[in-house]
Amino acid sequence: MKHMKPKVKIIFPGYESAENNGRSCSNVVLIRTDDRNIIVDPGTLPSQEILIEKLKQEKLSVADIDIVFLTHSHIDHTRNVGMFAIAKVLDFWGWWDGDLSSEYQNSDLEYIILYHTPGHSYDGVTLLVDSEDGKIAICGDVFWKKDYPKKDPFATDLKALKKSRKKVLKMADFVIPGHGEMFSTK
Ligand SMILES: [Zn+2]
Repeated sequence: MKHMKPKVKIIFPGYESAENNGRSCSNVVLIRTDDRNIIVDPGTLPSQEILIEKLKQEKLSVADIDIVFLTHSHIDHTRNVGMFAIAKVLDFWGWWDGDLSSEYQNSDLEYIILYHTPGHSYDGVTLLVDSEDGKIAICGDVFWKKDYPKKDPFATDLKALKKSRKKVLKMADFVIPGHGEMFSTK
């Protein structure tokens, strides 16, 4: 039997330093499938208690998280990965199970496809989730927010970033950017 399509939710809304006195934290996203709970980018957060509380509101604890996905290696997205000591980590390099890494296959997770989307950073990865609300691209800082920034001051490769942005907009119905609200591509 096919599983139900995943549910996707921003459980902690991100912000970026220019608008927030030098403080920066990514969106923290929860993907729930029939049999797995996935956190995308556990962020910096003023305190880890906040994330524990947000999970509680979803009737989850830290131990219920099976997978932590990192969109790229910038610390405002990754700092709290250590909170999830028993979760597998998925990033640019593939799976991490403790200290053991292995390649990711797109058949590993039903309804979820991983795309390399470099430009903001060389290791940028986007998850395309075929969710119950449509195709949602969780793209890290390919976009910080809708149409923003026009010219990414931290981009390692602006040309590659332009290509990645185009790709993300084309494949998704909705985009969850690195730091702002979800937006529609239509
Ligand atoms: Zn970044």
